[in-house]
Amino acid sequence: MRTCIGCRSRVPTFQLLRFVAVRDGDDLRLQPDPDRRLPGRGAHLHPDPACFAQAERRRAFGRALRLTGVADTGLLAEHIRAAVPPGTTDDDASELRHDPAR
Ligand SMILES: [Zn+2]
Repeated sequence: MRTCIGCRSRVPTFQLLRFVAVRDGDDLRLQPDPDRRLPGRGAHLHPDPACFAQAERRRAFGRALRLTGVADTGLLAEHIRAAVPPGTTDDDASELRHDPAR
């Protein structure tokens, strides 16, 4: 179980997107880590724009990752925008799997 830093709910880890902070020269950026392979301190968030917005509003990224300074959230935001939140397409997908000819 992990806590989403956006909505603060504790949910099974697989429902959350892991991300880490990567230092790139003088810049810090948040790097999505869907395979959970990147080293370092990670934090978890629902791949949901609403949770991302909440985390950003309460500056949860810096706190969760113990960052000093401001990290670039662009990559993470992009990843979340592209991700389909779990559950939203399940109904459609199961409809497609049903073959009416059988
Ligand atoms: Zn959440």
